[in-house]
Amino acid sequence: MQGINTSSHPAMPRRPQIIMQENDSTVPRLSDIFRCTRCGYCCQGETTVSLDQEDQQRMVDKLGLPREEVREKYWRVTGNVVQMKTVDGHCIFYDEEAGCTVHEGRPWRCGQWPLHPSMLSDRNNYETIKASCPGITRDLEYEEFCRILQALLERQGVLIC
Ligand code: SF4
Ligand code: SF4
Repeated sequence: MQGINTSSHPAMPRRPQIIMQENDSTVPRLSDIFRCTRCGYCCQGETTVSLDQEDQQRMVDKLGLPREEVREKYWRVTGNVVQMKTVDGHCIFYDEEAGCTVHEGRPWRCGQWPLHPSMLSDRNNYETIKASCPGITRDLEYEEFCRILQALLERQGVLIC
């Protein structure tokens, strides 16, 4: 997720909402613009997204371990910044076969990826994210992609993919 300009990131609800699929074919659907291929690319790299307080607690709850043990085993803490450790160039929770092994306890920024709202106002972000994520629908014009994403965001708030 490196190299993406998220400075125009709008205020986000503290609790992301799960998008509901509609049966009405006239209603924009998440699958119109994105279907995860489970390629795992977004879990690669030497750093990860950061975890806010709610992320930390959700992960602790999901793992069912004492907080100190989770911190010791899985987190990279730098000052006030908490990230996940990386192993062999990917997030410590990524498994080639299983994918994300902490799925329900993953940070909200992982769940939001790749549909970052900054793509609406910055075509370069859209192009950069699209180039790194094969799950984004290929045969849509940028304007149409934005129209659907905007509609989904207005209806659901933060999209969790
Ligand atoms: S979100 Fe995109 S980059 Fe990440 S696993 Fe899915 S398709 Fe791959
Ligand atoms: S928490 Fe899961 S989704 Fe997020 S980077 Fe790690 S393996 Fe990937």
